[in-house]
Amino acid sequence: MTNTTDNPLFYQTNSVTPMVSRARGIYIWDDSDKEYIDAASGAIICNIGHGDEKILEAVNEQAKSTFFTYRTQFENRPAVDLASKIVAHSPPLLDKVFYVSGGSEAVESAIKLARSYFYSRGEGSRHLLISRAPSYHGSTLGALSCTSYAPLEMPYRPLLKSPPKIPAPYCYRCQYGLTYPECEVACAMALETTIREQGEENVAGFIAEPIGGASTGALVPPEEYFGIIREICDKYGILLILDEVMTGFGRTGKLFASEHWNLEPDIVALSKGMASGYYPLGAIISRNSIVESVLDGGGFPHGHTYAGNPMACAVGLAVLNRILDDQLVANSAAMGTRLLDGLHRLAKDYPVIGQVRGRGLLTALEFVEDRATAAPFANEKDVGNLMTREAFQRGLIIYPRRSINGIAGDHTLIAPPLITTAPQIDEILNRLDDTLKSVSRTLASPANNGR
Ligand code: PLP
Repeated sequence: MTNTTDNPLFYQTNSVTPMVSRARGIYIWDDSDKEYIDAASGAIICNIGHGDEKILEAVNEQAKSTFFTYRTQFENRPAVDLASKIVAHSPPLLDKVFYVSGGSEAVESAIKLARSYFYSRGEGSRHLLISRAPSYHGSTLGALSCTSYAPLEMPYRPLLKSPPKIPAPYCYRCQYGLTYPECEVACAMALETTIREQGEENVAGFIAEPIGGASTGALVPPEEYFGIIREICDKYGILLILDEVMTGFGRTGKLFASEHWNLEPDIVALSKGMASGYYPLGAIISRNSIVESVLDGGGFPHGHTYAGNPMACAVGLAVLNRILDDQLVANSAAMGTRLLDGLHRLAKDYPVIGQVRGRGLLTALEFVEDRATAAPFANEKDVGNLMTREAFQRGLIIYPRRSINGIAGDHTLIAPPLITTAPQIDEILNRLDDTLKSVSRTLASPANNGR
């Protein structure tokens, strides 16, 4: 069965998708037994791939004991063990964990913890969270306020706080029209200007994805970017929140993307790869000094019912063990290099590829009509979705978005599970090659040029 008009479910659009039959490793099969390579890891979540026996064992084991207890009534062993392990492997000063059940909840919790911190210190005017454009931090109203991706925000703008945004380090389309390194990383310096404009006494924090996710397509900042950001945060006493919901748990070739620059954030939001799709799970990790101040100042009035339940944490622990014990972070780095090399080779053959981006197994292609000017394709050509459909027909799942704040431009994420092997990377590249051949032909056809 497919989800046709008889299907009572609804999602963002009317699009019809095949019914899944089973999933294992990096593969998914539909009910007609067609095989797909999951080169999007779902929504960049299934870091350890599908159908992992070790996770099934952990679920079965935990099920014999306890599925759910509520955190205000009982502590549970998996929750403590997972938190300890996360703290042991996270940046040095991050030593307190607060569980949630997803990425948006993690971002909401980070925003509220930052605000609560200043509130507890008697700095009640500090409430603004500066973020970047474009960006993606989640779909709940607080996380969406920090997000910059026009189609997701537009209908809800009257409901949203609109905190200040600074340009993302999107050098390919620099919002200042500058070129790196002559720009002197003006997009990072913009944080200081914005803090001054808003009044430092009003600013609580700055939130950013360390390596861009959906909205900016695996955007890697200039090497010195986060060093400058950290200095500015310290100078004005504001908290640096990293949204590692997509980049965490090995996705970019380090366990956490902050490690690429030895960056020490104040609060980190986590989810996705944390339970790799086997159970809803997320968390924030924070400096103890922040948590102590909040708890001593009256507590943290925030939380969600499912937070830190034994089954979610048992799954999270088994996933983290799988990532650490089987060197999946190193595999992500090595296979990421192989994938990026292959994408650069494809870019030589297909002028529709304007830029190849990424780190580890978080990679992206941005598509352009004219490589010399980086002019994007007209929206009517819908190149991102065309690529996705053509890839899907060829048994390859990729993840498209619009590059210019969701309004124009096309990119696609290619982010297979961290278990992907070298021959599987090569097969992903083969299927992409076929897809690009077909899409380039379609775009060059007179019918398309006339539009
Ligand atoms: N933050 C980032 C960087 C994300 O990529 C996402 C989801 O894609 C979220 C937050 C929101 O996570 P969720 O969809 O689990 O609420």
